[in-house]
Amino acid sequence: MSVAVITIDGPSASGKSSVSRDLAAKLGWKWVSTGAFYRGLAWVAMKEKVEVTDVPKLVNLCSDPLWSVEMRDDKTAVIWRGSDVTDEVFSEAVGEKASQVSQIQDVRKALLQAQRNCAIGVLGLVAEGRDCGTVVFPQAVLKVFLTASQEARALRRAREQGADVGKIQASQTERDNQDSTRTAAPLQVPPDALVLDTDHLSLLEAVEKIHFDHRFFRRDIGS
Ligand code: C5P
Repeated sequence: MSVAVITIDGPSASGKSSVSRDLAAKLGWKWVSTGAFYRGLAWVAMKEKVEVTDVPKLVNLCSDPLWSVEMRDDKTAVIWRGSDVTDEVFSEAVGEKASQVSQIQDVRKALLQAQRNCAIGVLGLVAEGRDCGTVVFPQAVLKVFLTASQEARALRRAREQGADVGKIQASQTERDNQDSTRTAAPLQVPPDALVLDTDHLSLLEAVEKIHFDHRFFRRDIGS
């Protein structure tokens, strides 16, 4: 029997993680931030002194047991050599490095199955990222694309990280541009997606709207 998956894609800091976490809690499902795979790889590459231009070594690192991604109720954790390094991995600086490694098609291919495995042995899955609806889970019962203005997104991240808004906005703009224009699985709105602008919605409203659409407009999945 196929597991129901809801995908939530969108640019950086559009609210994907908060919405996914709360939606999954409401449904009693698991959730995963697929960005953790790219961030984890970028961070581990740095620690293990693998250049982001060394594609064969990067690809090997994708399946190296010295690091892993774990789905938890409150976060998608990255574990390296037994330590939880999630806080470091989710900084904006590592986001930039993640955006660089995510351009490489061989890296995307090497990380794909691990992302799909998140839907195994669970009741349902909310998966968020850039290509969840287009590449990772094209059979999703509901696909959502979150947007928000550049200003609102930068302010959101700057508040979370206690960082300078201007610097965060510049970094996000560059990252979004890289993510949208790359040839390998670029950030794009899945043709059948529900598009939500989170500038005009509270977190609760966004979760309620997606939950409503899931109940009444979900596509049937094969068994
Ligand atoms: O979502 P998050 O900001 O954690 O993602 C970090 C980076 O990982 C993104 O900027 C993007 O380059 C890459 N990514 C991706 N495909 C995904 C999720 C993230 O390319 N499904």
